[in-house]
Amino acid sequence: MAERTLRVCALYPDLMNIYADRGNMLMLERRCAWRGIGFELTAAGLGDPVDPDAHDLFYLGGGQDRDQQLCAQDLVDTKRDALHAAAGRGAVVMGICGGIQLLGDHYELGTERVPGIGLADLHTVRAIDGSRLIGNVAIEVELPGLDGPRVLAGFENHGGRTYLAAGEVPLGRVLKGHGNDGRSGFEGVLRGTVIGTYLHGPLLPKNAWFADWLMATALGVDPGSLSALDDRLEDAAHQSARHAAGV
Ligand code: GLN
Repeated sequence: MAERTLRVCALYPDLMNIYADRGNMLMLERRCAWRGIGFELTAAGLGDPVDPDAHDLFYLGGGQDRDQQLCAQDLVDTKRDALHAAAGRGAVVMGICGGIQLLGDHYELGTERVPGIGLADLHTVRAIDGSRLIGNVAIEVELPGLDGPRVLAGFENHGGRTYLAAGEVPLGRVLKGHGNDGRSGFEGVLRGTVIGTYLHGPLLPKNAWFADWLMATALGVDPGSLSALDDRLEDAAHQSARHAAGV
């Protein structure tokens, strides 16, 4: 029986899962197993309530506009309060691409305003001409508990342009690629343990160091306290993703 268990809740894993974002879950599961840390994965779909105290990490992957529209109202109606409570007690709430858009205030899709859950002070607007921000991307991030800047590498593909409100902090600074809106140089959002990013890939297999940071943050332990793993393959995957982005 593991002494510690990482308890993850995947939100709408069937609808919000493009670019194989579920690979992120597999990455967490493996890195926990290799360290003798337990791993529990619960799915919460349309209509399912979530218990804010039962999970350490809530995960919302990317989705097509139509899938996001299906989930948005449900998120507001059945999960918003629980997710605010969870973030309030220090659980990680992470949104990727369509996920970051739904963590914000709203997503403007033409004449429609898709509601978000307001965990981060941002909003997203779909480009009127339908153009998308696509390609390999690398960002520089500075995260609590780590001893200096690091690089996150991934892939982005979004029609939405995300704008952070004044005072809201991005997850990172764009080194290559488009980021939140293709202009600001900002990528993602970081507000305490609420994290949003446009990086797919899936993100975690391309950035094992970040998987560990996320795991440690969700468990409430120092990232340096996790035992080292043989990361030769993971480091090669990271280098290859950076190379693809030109960094
Ligand atoms: N549907 C959203 C957009 O195009 C998010 C897409 C995604 O998750 N890749 O902006």
